[in-house]
Amino acid sequence: MNTESPHVWSKHDLTLLARCSASSLKTYRDTAPMTRMPWTSYRETSADIQEVSEIDRLLGRQLGYVREHSLFYKKHIQWRSRRSPLTLADLRRLPFTTRRQLQEDQVEYPPFGSYFVADRRRVSRVHRTSGSTGRPLFIALSTSEIEDTLECGARCFRAVGVKRDDLIIHCLSYCMWSGGVTDHEALERTGAGVIPYGVGNSSNLIRTILLLHPTGIHCTPSYMAKLEQRLEEEFELEPKALGLTLGLFGGEPGLQDPHFRRRIERDWGLRAMDANYGMAEVLSMFGAECEVRDGLHFLGGGVLYPELKDLTSDGVLPWEPGARGELVLTHLRRECQPLVRYRTSDLIEIVAAGTCVCGRTTPRWRVIGRVDDMVVIRGVNVYLGAIGEVINGELDRLAGEYRVLVSRTEPIHDCLIKVEAKTGQRHHGYRRELEDRLARRLGVRVNVTLVPQGALPRTEGKTRRLERVSQSALLGGDRWQGVLTD
Ligand SMILES: [Zn+2]
Repeated sequence: MNTESPHVWSKHDLTLLARCSASSLKTYRDTAPMTRMPWTSYRETSADIQEVSEIDRLLGRQLGYVREHSLFYKKHIQWRSRRSPLTLADLRRLPFTTRRQLQEDQVEYPPFGSYFVADRRRVSRVHRTSGSTGRPLFIALSTSEIEDTLECGARCFRAVGVKRDDLIIHCLSYCMWSGGVTDHEALERTGAGVIPYGVGNSSNLIRTILLLHPTGIHCTPSYMAKLEQRLEEEFELEPKALGLTLGLFGGEPGLQDPHFRRRIERDWGLRAMDANYGMAEVLSMFGAECEVRDGLHFLGGGVLYPELKDLTSDGVLPWEPGARGELVLTHLRRECQPLVRYRTSDLIEIVAAGTCVCGRTTPRWRVIGRVDDMVVIRGVNVYLGAIGEVINGELDRLAGEYRVLVSRTEPIHDCLIKVEAKTGQRHHGYRRELEDRLARRLGVRVNVTLVPQGALPRTEGKTRRLERVSQSALLGGDRWQGVLTD
């Protein structure tokens, strides 16, 4: 169905709108108060998350509730006693919960799984995960859980600099995804205005931005490439003509790559912020940068208890700068679907602890990859993030889009990276050069195929860059139609 507006905008209309957008923003910038938004919760300035005395009290109550009511955890945990109070020390002895366990449990006990422990009448909102890592999960939230979610979401948006004067166009899916209505309400909680746009219909989005002059956009990082393409092909406008000053990104990795961030900021003339780290099955948002941009602050205090799991054992690591491990989360006050020691599959590195320049004292981390986005090529651990960093460092010759193809069967010997070359650039000998650069970064040699700009499909949601294909598809790369030769 064509949902585009039948009104056709002339180039003259669009130039006028772009000019008008820029001038109204100048007024906004001149009058906007420069005061720093205060954070409202003591949890953002409280001591080390591991030492807050409240944790033991909340955890004791939560684990007691789980032990008594959760059919799922009756099956998965050998509780030592039915009555004795449970503490942080007890938590450390409990087994981890995986996403796969939850997926299988929801198949067996539809729709919410046997880890759903509340009265059905307590459910106020239902979300579904995007399903980018397998079968989607249904998430049930009570009124108080929505309240906690919005509070943590608002902490994140305030941290990245959203102010009352802002008008944010919200471009995440409202179709059951928590990034839609729930993040929308969290944005509103900062006092900012929100335009509920959702996903799709990009041409109309561009017209809406030109008409309403929002100060910021909230979307996935990969969506910016799609908008750039549409701006160029249909509107013949530079991204800067939209006049956006704040980019709030989340929902998928990307922004933690400095090359990618620099490019977005240069081309769009906005400040690109890593605004939205979270996962719907645990808490929609609980990590965001502050103005210092030295990693994501943990902003789920009082609602979540985070741990750092050692990659090679079941032990946990202290939250000290330089520590690397998998982020593990336990709910502290969940009513409907409480989770204990949930493995997020996100590999994180602690970048800072102690008081930040912004005044918050919660630790900061960066995501370095996914446990499931790591492939072992000829015995070497290769993270997709590292491939992305190399490609985004070559944006004078590459368009930034790529796919990583490996064989479906293990062990993996070959890896082919399809990369979009920038139109108008000379590519003679470049493919080999890029292969050498990747080999130095990854510690293993991979094959590169250059394809024309625009050849790889753009997505409006999470881009899955890793494709597992048959061995013949891997080796037949040079015969593909449209491949650029060197
Ligand atoms: Zn800070």
